[in-house]
Amino acid sequence: MIRGAKQPLTNNLNTLQKHRDITIGRLEKFIQRGEFDDVNLNTVLWKKRSGKAVVLEVFPVPDRKRISFEEAMKGEYKPTNVGEWFGPSFSTFWFKVSIEIPADFEGHQVLFEFDSGTELMIWSTDGVPITGLTGGDNDEDRHVDYLLAENAVAGQKFELCLEMACNGRNGINNTDIPEPDMNKYWQLRMADISVRNKLAQELLMYFKLLLQLVKDTPQEWQINSDALYCGDSIMNAFRLDDDEEEHEGFEMALAEAHGIAVKFFADHQKGGRSLHQIYAIGHCHIDTAWLWPYDETKRKSGRSWARQITFMKRNPNFKFTASQAQQYEWVEQKYPTLFKDMQEFEKKGQFLPVGGTWVEMDCNLTSGESLVRQFLYGQRYFESRFGKRCTVFWLPDTFGYSSQLPQLATSAGMKYFLTQKISWNNINKFPNNTFKWAGLDNTEVLSHFPPADTYSGQCTVGEVLKNVHNHRDKAYSNKSLYLFGNGDGGGGPLYPMIERLEVLGNLEGLPATIQTAGPAEFFKDLEETSRDLVRWKGELYLEFHRGTYTSHGLVKKFNRKSEILLREVEFLSTLVLTNPHKKNSDFTYPASELNRLWKLVLVNQFHDVLPGTSLKLVYDEVMDFYRDVEASGHKLKNDALRALFDTGNLTSNSGLKQAIAVINTTSWPIDATVVELNMSELTPGVELYGSSTWRQCSKDGRALVYVNDLQSGSLQSFALGNKPSEFVPVIVQRIILPSNSSKQTDSDDFIHVTEETGFEIENKFINAKFDQHGRLVSLYDRESQHESIIPDQLGNVFKLFEDIPTGWDAWDIEVFHLQKGWDAKVGLATVEEAGPLRVILKVKHPLTKRSSLEQRIIITAADGMIEFDTKVDWHENRLCLKVEFPLNVNCDFATYETQFGYIQRPTHYNTSWDLARFEVCGHRYADLSEYGFGVALFNDCKYGYSTLGGIMRMSLLRSPKGPDGTTDMEIHNFRYALYPHKGSFLASDVVKKAYQYNEKPIVHPIMINSSLLFNTEFFRVSESNFVLDTVKVAEDPRGSNQNENVDIVLRFYESYGGRGVARVETLFNIKEARFCNILEDLEDHVTIEDNGKTLVIPFGPFKVVSVRLLAVR
Ligand SMILES: [Zn+2]
Repeated sequence: MIRGAKQPLTNNLNTLQKHRDITIGRLEKFIQRGEFDDVNLNTVLWKKRSGKAVVLEVFPVPDRKRISFEEAMKGEYKPTNVGEWFGPSFSTFWFKVSIEIPADFEGHQVLFEFDSGTELMIWSTDGVPITGLTGGDNDEDRHVDYLLAENAVAGQKFELCLEMACNGRNGINNTDIPEPDMNKYWQLRMADISVRNKLAQELLMYFKLLLQLVKDTPQEWQINSDALYCGDSIMNAFRLDDDEEEHEGFEMALAEAHGIAVKFFADHQKGGRSLHQIYAIGHCHIDTAWLWPYDETKRKSGRSWARQITFMKRNPNFKFTASQAQQYEWVEQKYPTLFKDMQEFEKKGQFLPVGGTWVEMDCNLTSGESLVRQFLYGQRYFESRFGKRCTVFWLPDTFGYSSQLPQLATSAGMKYFLTQKISWNNINKFPNNTFKWAGLDNTEVLSHFPPADTYSGQCTVGEVLKNVHNHRDKAYSNKSLYLFGNGDGGGGPLYPMIERLEVLGNLEGLPATIQTAGPAEFFKDLEETSRDLVRWKGELYLEFHRGTYTSHGLVKKFNRKSEILLREVEFLSTLVLTNPHKKNSDFTYPASELNRLWKLVLVNQFHDVLPGTSLKLVYDEVMDFYRDVEASGHKLKNDALRALFDTGNLTSNSGLKQAIAVINTTSWPIDATVVELNMSELTPGVELYGSSTWRQCSKDGRALVYVNDLQSGSLQSFALGNKPSEFVPVIVQRIILPSNSSKQTDSDDFIHVTEETGFEIENKFINAKFDQHGRLVSLYDRESQHESIIPDQLGNVFKLFEDIPTGWDAWDIEVFHLQKGWDAKVGLATVEEAGPLRVILKVKHPLTKRSSLEQRIIITAADGMIEFDTKVDWHENRLCLKVEFPLNVNCDFATYETQFGYIQRPTHYNTSWDLARFEVCGHRYADLSEYGFGVALFNDCKYGYSTLGGIMRMSLLRSPKGPDGTTDMEIHNFRYALYPHKGSFLASDVVKKAYQYNEKPIVHPIMINSSLLFNTEFFRVSESNFVLDTVKVAEDPRGSNQNENVDIVLRFYESYGGRGVARVETLFNIKEARFCNILEDLEDHVTIEDNGKTLVIPFGPFKVVSVRLLAVR
């Protein structure tokens, strides 16, 4: 085996984030003598060497005389050897040298090398001085070789004479200053013939220059990083040969290393690669709503883009890029002639659509499916109006980037990504500008953060320099993108900016050239010329604006509820089209209305709207949009439900019984649940309660019904007369808490009670103890036999924190808020409902003088979850309200749901990167697990979490005063739940429970003949980690006859980070099944088994898998 032969390196090894100083140290060692010179370049500078071929005789000239050649020839010569000493200072020795070329030197260029440590002259035997040598250790002085033969012949003989002077080039001490040592002796170190390794010696020369470029040019120069990268690459290519067999590999490696050096110097001739290349593009960031309402943005877009069109007409070299399909649609509707101009200049390559999304959306809070729709609606729009899709995913200003974006952007046809917002980090500087961003599932997108750190460049000399100086990946690329033009409120480039760039474009003295180019052109060039790019894995967490997970709670709640509602409408409407029990030929899938409602949801996900950082004026309009979605969505949902259960031609109720239809839209079964019924929806006279111990009427007069064994993706009917099997009631009792559980808190403001009483609530799954204020003393999980709450601490405690950031009021909650928090005032709990289906403790906390909180703590007979149904009347100034659970779990990281998966973040502040994540975003669940046990916290509309050690906190409300002084000053209703589970997170059903906590079964009262009770399972997915998330009709349904076929899109995701093959059974009669991307483009066929009833779908960790089914209607 040839060890030295070049082995292909894996990608990862070559894409290290290299540490500059360590790399320079490595380079220095490559050419240094001394330590390591048996394994560095020095050891291969010579191919052959022989001392035996050289025979020496010496004649010492007496009395430090300097004699002529002729006199010297008369001297008396005696044999001598390497190792002998010669002196004293300033004396002279003459040598006669006889050399015979050995056989193995035949054909080589042969040198004579003589190092006496002193100066000497080489003479021919007939008295002609040939050349002077200088021996010694100083590399810059040393010259000890003489070319003996260009093409040596074996047996060839050479005779030379040497005149050795016992002094160095600079005297005896090699310096003039001290008194010379007149009795110094020099040892003859070398008298050899040798064959040079020409490539290695040239490489040494190149390598010394590279090291000088690294050390002696300014670090921000392009050539500096290039030289460092080149030296490092040479060392990676270089291999030593240990023995004969490996020699071939060594020669190849040396030639490769030499070639790298040669190419470097060829590429870096004047005007070459050492100039940084800036690609400049005009841009105009228009916030879709922020310090102005949507209606003004319509006019801003028109004004800004019309101006840019005039510049394009004036200057055919000017290019401009604009994102956000929503803004294009507004301009198309409001300014049709301008829109025609935009289309015309798009064709000319000057007006360049970018981004591929509906708006530049928030990516922390939006659901996975919402992100899909941002791309779907965005790309469909661009394609329909410009005949092409965007290739660059563009989000310069969003407050953090989900780890699923690389996969989703790629699925939407975009392999390039741009932002600059991470430069706003207020704790750690992000280490890269050009890199590969790898998502949760390892999909990679080529990413660029413009090093000018702005999307509103002003075309100044300073910004041109910043492009070069601040570029952190110059070793891997010499290109950067520069966005110029006024932004945020629109405007865009001014004409003098364009002119300035043209003047600066090729100016001598600036370390960069500037050319105009569109984003796609830039990324394509970047892709082709960059090398060994560093990889960043996982989310791009913005270390700033952490308050946006919480500010404006109602917007977040409406967004979550709208996402759920539209999912339900799509799911139910698709079922109507495919229900095998009922042909509804009248029913039309509400495609255009769904389209309209989705667009309202999507526009409100803009990166200053959903985060809660816009004016009140904006939110008035935003709430109108959401109310429209809520009302119209519910109408569509009811239309679909009626179509599903229409009793149509039944004219009398005779023989019919009251029942309920329960629809489980999730892809998991539900063991048991308690559903609520509004009595007014039931047929008058229905007997529900009687004396049964397994039924319950709520305090507000609603019927509670226990239903069990709900199948996945199913419609199931339940007659309201049958007792469920295996029913164990939930019970509550008043207890005296043990004295050691009278907990200390930070507050003295208790409402005083005379005895330490509390409540114990128990069902089949858990035993929970609360103190008299509704705070959790103990939560015992009966299956795992674990206690969930840290002993002597309290859960469900409300904490208030002073929340005054250093600026950016609605945006920022700053790290120091954690230093200044206290317990809110508490009230007394009472029992509101006492079982058997449900126990409710009710408590009202005064919180502060201005605000109060009312909570219903709910435990049902159905599962081991404690729900906290919460209402807060909130009127604070720069306070943040959190709820706290001290969980009896030891783990260095907590798990938070993100789009189509989860992300784990530290529960400690070891490093500045850990500390920076003191407040993080999570979706429906956060979980803290150790081996064998864990506790999850669910919510129905909250997103801000912080976990330190075992203390998990959820941020409930903030009270910033800018830019909307009324932010969150209202009544809030939200729910959260605590769920202990056996097994760690990966072994738990947390994903399912959190999902079902949000996607509750839909309950629809029906009248039915008992013989017609139905149980229709539409979907059954064999793998519980593979989630069926979306069921909808395709945007462009196939087939001419819509009455016969339905074109259905199913979207799944893998939720735990595992792989496998799922068998998906459906009731549909499938004609064809194809995989598709998120734009619904058809891809490969899906294997179908069981006569068209079962799809066989392989999947990988965190993969989003979309399938299009053509089903018979
Ligand atoms: Zn913005």
